[in-house]
Amino acid sequence: MIYDELTSPQIAKLDKKIPLVMVLAATEQHGAHLPLATDRLIGEHFASTLHQQLPDKVLLLPTVSVGCSEHHMGFSGSLTLTHETFISQVEDIIRSVIAHGFTNILLLNSHGGNQGVGQILIEKLGKNHSEANILLTTWWKLNGDALAVLNESGVGGTGHAGEFETSLMLLIAPHLVHVEKLEKGLHNKTFPWAEGDMLYPPKVSYFRTMKEMTSNGVYGNPSYGNKEKGEQITTLVVDNLKQIVTDLHKS
Ligand SMILES: [Zn+2]
Repeated sequence: MIYDELTSPQIAKLDKKIPLVMVLAATEQHGAHLPLATDRLIGEHFASTLHQQLPDKVLLLPTVSVGCSEHHMGFSGSLTLTHETFISQVEDIIRSVIAHGFTNILLLNSHGGNQGVGQILIEKLGKNHSEANILLTTWWKLNGDALAVLNESGVGGTGHAGEFETSLMLLIAPHLVHVEKLEKGLHNKTFPWAEGDMLYPPKVSYFRTMKEMTSNGVYGNPSYGNKEKGEQITTLVVDNLKQIVTDLHKS
């Protein structure tokens, strides 16, 4: 079920243990070949595939489609919230659904820049709402070992606008992928211990803007992306989501 497609009386009658899923995304540059909506489209794709498989056992909340993208602001079009605004916005929405009696909430994040602030958010929400199960996951963490097997372009392949995001976008919205503009990330190396990507995180946290990390806004080599890989990634991620929401519903 889709939260805002229901009427207020329909919401009132629901079993309040039904897991709510809310996508946390971003609106930001993804190189010359992918649109600003990439993270939103990917997060919503996983959520809607989950919903197709368990239509009556999950309730999809509206997406938070602008995230924490300060590091992308050097590229035209990127939008960002401050950490404080992002926390307040998500916190207020969660507070609202808890006020209506819901007790199981899964935040499904699709943007690297939301991970640090997401941890603070989950600690705050967990402390203030012990009556509910409030969870946060980021899709590439759901089945990291199996996802790593699909990676053909090495470290950086699962990075921003790289092999994985391009594969997913070729599956979800091929009309928005500018294949003629595909190019390898133009990485600017700093220290070896500060290099990494989503599946192989660096040993050391070190803030740099995307412009400083890669002059074309791309990480890894997106030319390894294809639709079939997008389907394989989807199965690995959604199988894990199904397990989580099924367990939550029983709790
Ligand atoms: Zn992205």
